[in-house]
Amino acid sequence: MNLADRLITLANLFSSLYQAKLNSDIYRDWLYKLDNLLKSMSDGIVLLNLQRNVIHQNDAFVQFIKTYNDGKMIINENQLIKMFIQINELESVDIEEFASQNEASIRIKAQLPGKIRYFEIKKFAVYENSEPLGNVYSIRDITKEYEVDQIKSNLISIASHEFKTPLTNIRGSVETLLRGESNWDESFSHDLLLGIHEDVLHLQELIDVWMDVKKIETGTLLLHQDFFPLFQLIKGTRNQLPEKVMSQGEIVFNYDTTSNFPLLYGDEARVRQVLINLIINGLTYNDAKEKKIVVDIHHDDQYIYIEVTDNGIGISEKNLKKIFERFYRADISAARKSGGSGLGLSISEGLIREHGGEIDVKSRLNEGSTFTVKLPIIEVP
Ligand code: ADP
Repeated sequence: MNLADRLITLANLFSSLYQAKLNSDIYRDWLYKLDNLLKSMSDGIVLLNLQRNVIHQNDAFVQFIKTYNDGKMIINENQLIKMFIQINELESVDIEEFASQNEASIRIKAQLPGKIRYFEIKKFAVYENSEPLGNVYSIRDITKEYEVDQIKSNLISIASHEFKTPLTNIRGSVETLLRGESNWDESFSHDLLLGIHEDVLHLQELIDVWMDVKKIETGTLLLHQDFFPLFQLIKGTRNQLPEKVMSQGEIVFNYDTTSNFPLLYGDEARVRQVLINLIINGLTYNDAKEKKIVVDIHHDDQYIYIEVTDNGIGISEKNLKKIFERFYRADISAARKSGGSGLGLSISEGLIREHGGEIDVKSRLNEGSTFTVKLPIIEVP
């Protein structure tokens, strides 16, 4: 049963409840059915009578109150609306206007320490032979849908922006090359082709990044996990770092070659992708005369730690909390130079989470940052 069907059933049950009032057996039977239906719903449901007092609430609503109203009971519509106003962080939503209507829906944003959730609140009246009986409020957690919507609209606006420049360049170069009457010398044509190639690679990268976001978001990311030695990760990372990046500064890998270093377990290409992203960021957001990245790898009994330290611009306390958010860029001018999408760290965080690990950052403005990737050690069978 979808939500609409459930609510129709609910409305019918609600009105039958009133009809059956005279017969206590039927009344009890309806009440039982209603109670079970409401219990089975993940949406919070509150029934109000004509006096706007709460006459029934389901478990999901009680749970909602526990989280967002310090467990304080709601006994009438006034208190219900007050609670929504108190929770809501979206200034543009007029909850009182919503409350004054018979049928309406609004979205509210609720912030708890460390997490933001979005709820859709629907209100509708229940009638019996055109006679109003009361109101129903349903509260649905729409965080997932909201975030997907946000990603979509962000992608659309970024796509039009990020695609525009390379596409304009490609078009210009191709049109130049196509101009049949001109006899371009070979090195000029070659330069144009190199430019086209670079722009195409950039577009491809953008698409790969967005596909990763989608996969992480929808839980469809496939990891090809296996055991692999540390030296393989380091060698692969060095080989894959573009020449342009390597030449920007010094990159040092520190790790204990003498000890019996445990094997890493995971999707090597994905772990490498994270490490490369951190190294490139360390060089990009870096104004030092001599840019330096130190990758320090060590372990304890449970985890392997990959620490990437740079001597770059650093990240302010305020921004530190936000840099793992999708599309977040602390320094737009530096980010624009990098041609980044503001998605690298959010993807890295998602990839490491999928590996059962964590990624953390410590930073001081104008001094540099250290990103630490923590991967669990898995015993080799
Ligand atoms: P992008 O680099 O594409 O903008 P990221 O998700 O990789 O996206 O990074 C998000 C933001 O975090 C960057 O725009 C930058 O402002 C900040 N940032 C990331 N890494 C560093 C770093 N090593 N030093 C300073 N700022 C950083």
